[in-house]
Amino acid sequence: MRLILLGPPGAGKGTQAKLLKEKYGIPQISTGDILRKAVKDQTAVGIEVQAFMQAGNLVPDELVINLIKERIKEGDCSGGFILDGFPRTQIQAAKLTETLGTMGIEIDAVVEFSVDNKALVDRLTGRWTCTECGEMFHESARKSRVDGICDHCGGALFQRDDDKRETIINRLEIYKQETQPLIKYYKQQGRLKTVEGQGDVHEVFSQVCSLIT
Ligand code: AMP
Repeated sequence: MRLILLGPPGAGKGTQAKLLKEKYGIPQISTGDILRKAVKDQTAVGIEVQAFMQAGNLVPDELVINLIKERIKEGDCSGGFILDGFPRTQIQAAKLTETLGTMGIEIDAVVEFSVDNKALVDRLTGRWTCTECGEMFHESARKSRVDGICDHCGGALFQRDDDKRETIINRLEIYKQETQPLIKYYKQQGRLKTVEGQGDVHEVFSQVCSLIT
């Protein structure tokens, strides 16, 4: 199964991607996670993208497109994959369609998570992410059992630089300008499934599963 998870920052794409990965045994490809690792490791790509990411801006299309092109050709993607955070612009979406076409494959479904802006800001400002496995917690809605430690792998939790209020407002605006138009693009292709992303994680997950199977 080949899926795209679409939605604003904080909509729950990463959390749902992890649940889907476990249930279907296909990899989660998060461009945000790949880029954060590159920044942490200070690779050439990491050095190039860090200022964009810190400000909550999108990194150049060409860079993420190349990254995805390489990633989906890896062996673990042969049975499917979950794209989390890609595509985010019309150019990225068009290039993805083209690349998959050359590989003789296509996307099965695009799941859009709809969440209102106030809830998104609350989720992002209270979000704590694991440095090791990327699992996400929230300081009131989903506390870790031990403060600052991931329940899942024991890694240290941190607050992302771009989860600051001013940066969040910028990220939401960019979503509206650059990414929201993809909803229409995939609707026209008959692949769009919309999920109300506001509820409990497991309720949202069962909605997602019922829409994609
Ligand atoms: P995320 O973890 O998906 O919220 O992504 C964090 C940051 O990584 C974004 O604010 C962008 O700076 C960058 N990023 C991730 N995915 C993309 C993408 N598909 N296109 C451009 N920039 C991206």
